[in-house]
Amino acid sequence: MDSIEIGLLVFFFGLAVGSFLNVIIFRHNTGEKVIAGRSRCFACGKTLRWHELIPVLSFCIQKGRCRDCRSKISWQYPAVEILTGLLFLFFYLKWRIAYSLPAGEAGAGQDLIILLWWFSIAALLVLLTVYDLKHKILPDRFNYAFLALSFFNIFNDFAALTFLLSLGPAFFLFLLWFISRGRWMGLGDAKLMAAGGIFLGHIQSLVALVLSFWIGAAVGIFLLFLNPNIKLKSEIPFGPFLALGIILAFFFSPYG
Ligand SMILES: [Zn+2]
Repeated sequence: MDSIEIGLLVFFFGLAVGSFLNVIIFRHNTGEKVIAGRSRCFACGKTLRWHELIPVLSFCIQKGRCRDCRSKISWQYPAVEILTGLLFLFFYLKWRIAYSLPAGEAGAGQDLIILLWWFSIAALLVLLTVYDLKHKILPDRFNYAFLALSFFNIFNDFAALTFLLSLGPAFFLFLLWFISRGRWMGLGDAKLMAAGGIFLGHIQSLVALVLSFWIGAAVGIFLLFLNPNIKLKSEIPFGPFLALGIILAFFFSPYG
């Protein structure tokens, strides 16, 4: 297969996973099971047919409305699907570079497990980002899943000192949370940084933290410019910036 064809395949796989992530985000903390039951329209409750469940495409064909009751469908659906698709493509690109595969070769065995491991982390970062944007909270369940996955980091040597150093940025965020009693930083942010730190190793962990603060500050200034009355600390969650910092630090890390 051509590398463009594989890239497209990865993107479509990401769209499908993103569609599943939407279900998790909408059903988290509602008591509804994620696996059980087909998706329904939130307004009229009608079960969606297979052709209404195609990522992005269904949304576009139906012009963002339910086929039965014409009520608007959340733009979160296509946004999360496209975000996941792009992120998978991004991680796939990193994977190709890390293993310097010749064009047209898909890679095999051990390498493929690493790619799937990275995709799982990408999916969790999407969940954390979107949930934090919607509800201003980073659920423990997603954070702990990321933490567990980050321990599979076989590139990171687990010498005691470097391991402790990789948790430095998380400890810094924990201190901000502790000193401000949760006003500057949430405890969930420190947990996310802990997982990211172990995943990235001690050098890229620091890079991720610095990038998050820079990007967060730039976006904050831009939003203040648009609306001078906005309350930055209470209205803008930090989780999405951390996730973006972790993704960028990972992509530009020297190791695989
Ligand atoms: Zn409906």
